[in-house]
Amino acid sequence: MINGGLGETHINNMLAALNIPNIIEKSLKDREREVGVHLEEMAEESCRKQLHEEIRESDGNLTVSFDGAWQKRGTGHANNSLTGHATLFGEKTQKCVSYAVKVKNCRICSGAKAKGVPPRKHRCQCNWSGSAKAMEPAMACEMIQGIINEGSRVLQYLSATAFLSPSFYF
Ligand SMILES: [Zn+2]
Repeated sequence: MINGGLGETHINNMLAALNIPNIIEKSLKDREREVGVHLEEMAEESCRKQLHEEIRESDGNLTVSFDGAWQKRGTGHANNSLTGHATLFGEKTQKCVSYAVKVKNCRICSGAKAKGVPPRKHRCQCNWSGSAKAMEPAMACEMIQGIINEGSRVLQYLSATAFLSPSFYF
């Protein structure tokens, strides 16, 4: 549901079709927060496993493919997306070896700031204060530093479509 971008209306339509009682938005958000923590842990564990596999298969000299994106279109003069995400794929395994997410805004923090009170205890996702355009290079550096921290090095850094191109292999 989270990855599909579905909200309360969509999930309640599906529940109605299944003759299951609806869920209110607050309950849905609470469950989302509970599940989100575990989804992140699973994603990190999966990336860690694939990174070690990639390091083993490439003898520590990795070729990686990178791509990043924003939640909001960044063409023209609008580079004001509040979130950005990026992934790094290994050449040998063709699997995701790292990912990064940058979040510029938190509703709980900004709500508290508007009221002039300290924010309630929450798992704040806010980790970026620069421009949306600067998110992508920052995420690339962060992920490559993660590989270096594992004792390996990145020999080649390619655009996302490079592995899909037949000219890369022949
Ligand atoms: Zn926050």
